[in-house]
Amino acid sequence: MSDCLFCKIVAGEIPSKSVAQSDTAYAFYDVAPQAPVHVLVVPKVHITSADEVASSHGGIIDDLVLLAQRVVEIEGVRESGYRLVINVGADAQMSVPHLHLHVLGGRRMEWPPG
Ligand code: AMP
Repeated sequence: MSDCLFCKIVAGEIPSKSVAQSDTAYAFYDVAPQAPVHVLVVPKVHITSADEVASSHGGIIDDLVLLAQRVVEIEGVRESGYRLVINVGADAQMSVPHLHLHVLGGRRMEWPPG
């Protein structure tokens, strides 16, 4: 989608700090980290949110989680634990309408979340 921030990041039109990528997904550091490790994992194709995911997307959620597993290995938090978050819609304060997985780690996190 031509006016989508994360589509532009995937296309390299807006700079990002890469962590890893697969055929279908791209992982990069969040510009405003909420934890010592805060990486976003996004599909390379535009999907507006988790609410739009369909079987025709070919297991994209699996692909995001598999790339997140590589990210936590790279970032050294696989053993200590981490949180995977997908915000959907206004009440979750989703701010970028392109499906993304937040990978958060490196500190003890609150539960339940605020
Ligand atoms: P969400 O609130 O779930 O939609 O998360 C969007 C995330 O994108 C936020 O954590 C932002 O800090 C992050 N973000 C926004 N713009 C950029 C950017 N240009 N590069 C990296 N992360 C970004």
